[in-house]
Amino acid sequence: MSDDATPAKVRLTDELGHTPRCPECNDTGERDSGGAHPWGEPIYLACECKDVEIGRRWREDSSLAAWFPITARRMRELQEENDRLCAAVTLLRECERTLEMWADVAPAVSLRADIRKLLTQVA
Ligand SMILES: [Zn+2]
Repeated sequence: MSDDATPAKVRLTDELGHTPRCPECNDTGERDSGGAHPWGEPIYLACECKDVEIGRRWREDSSLAAWFPITARRMRELQEENDRLCAAVTLLRECERTLEMWADVAPAVSLRADIRKLLTQVA
């Protein structure tokens, strides 16, 4: 078979160094149904071999990072933000307790009330 007669998707697979393994689709992921459209093009159907390959990869590593890397990155960013916010809340609680010592100083009482208001929003 000459290169001109080889479908582009088969050539692409070969150029990447993969040895075609599936006898149904030649590792293209699409197999010829045997039918044709009215305009003459063959009708291709999804080959089940890709489902098998995807299932194998899933069983090997079904981590969020492997399959949904953008979501995994966003989750890490949100976790880091949550950690920073938790540290800020801890610091505010310590400040609020420290201000108990100055219960007779008006600015401290006012500041403590503001901190308590903030803490009720995150509790
Ligand atoms: Zn196949």
